[in-house]
Amino acid sequence: MAEKRDYYEVLGVDKNATQDQIKRAYRKMAKKYHPDVNKSPDAEEKFKEVNEAYEVLSDENKKAAYDRYGHAAFDGTAGAGGAGGFGGFGGFEDMDFGDIFGSFFGGGGRSRTRDTGPRQGEDRFVQLDIDFMDAIRGKKTDIKINYDEPCKACNGSGAASPNDIENCPRCGGSGRVRMQQRSPFGTFVQESECPDCHGTGKKIKKICPECRGKGYKNKNVTVELNIPAGINTHQQLRVQGKGGRGINGGPNGDLYVEIYVRPHKHFVRQGNDIHIEIPVSAVDATLGCKVEVPTVYGDVEMSIPEGTQPGTTLRLRGKGVKSLRGNTYGDEYVTVNVKIPTKLTKAEKDLYKKLQGGTTRKSIFEQFKNSFKA
Ligand SMILES: [Zn+2]
Ligand SMILES: [Zn+2]
Repeated sequence: MAEKRDYYEVLGVDKNATQDQIKRAYRKMAKKYHPDVNKSPDAEEKFKEVNEAYEVLSDENKKAAYDRYGHAAFDGTAGAGGAGGFGGFGGFEDMDFGDIFGSFFGGGGRSRTRDTGPRQGEDRFVQLDIDFMDAIRGKKTDIKINYDEPCKACNGSGAASPNDIENCPRCGGSGRVRMQQRSPFGTFVQESECPDCHGTGKKIKKICPECRGKGYKNKNVTVELNIPAGINTHQQLRVQGKGGRGINGGPNGDLYVEIYVRPHKHFVRQGNDIHIEIPVSAVDATLGCKVEVPTVYGDVEMSIPEGTQPGTTLRLRGKGVKSLRGNTYGDEYVTVNVKIPTKLTKAEKDLYKKLQGGTTRKSIFEQFKNSFKA
């Protein structure tokens, strides 16, 4: 498959473009590549591409996801999947860009703008900062959510009873009205949203007393979020049905909680591996020693072999982060930072001096100088 082009490039706008500029750029490009106008063989493909780009960039949520993840945001490969309600980008997988193309020509595909049936609401995104160790071990945490819950009394219809819903007399239930417009170029028939029913195609005779006809109730709820061990920054947890409210009695969208893991003072995480630097004295590095190295699971004894060079990295197998996908663990990489003492006691200084003069071998520096003479 050909590499997908950048959506901003497709519309010819830069990343800081306003919604207004995006809309204008879209109209220009859509006109240019409309297959009715442009007869070149790739026009249809280009036109599709322009619509796809606009579909994403005109929606603040999708745009934010695209800015962060690129095309991966919509192909289901970003984030991590797994059991236990951890859905990665599941919300995007259902999106079928073919529909957009179809609706543009009014043939075949399901039309979004003319649909007066139930539709799922928009997905919403929130951020949640968590501690480094909570990401390693996993955690249950409560989050407060404000959302619109479909009214139970009327199932979101806003009507006192199903008999109180009838088709809008103005548009006959289609939600759209056709109006003739005269212009210097002739008479046009333009279709627009029905002003009486605002596109719902319905008229309510008696409103639901519970929600006063709105079809939903605004609620503040606390939801327990199960953060799995091994989660990392930018991964998302899905809270089903707590997103934007559904349209025409459709279900709510989902809420995506994007995780941000705060950095740790000593541990650095790379994927499922942990990196740490430990200070070791020159004497210990020379003679070798045993040290208690901190890991995310507590201290672990590790041998520093004799003659360990500064910057040497040793591995503690399986002491990294648990994989979200299974029961495998990353490793911990321990970098030995050999510390040269800057302050010595008199006794220490004497010992070092003894070492300096007490060898029959040539010093390393002398060996190095001799290599020039050869
Ligand atoms: Zn109407
Ligand atoms: Zn109601």
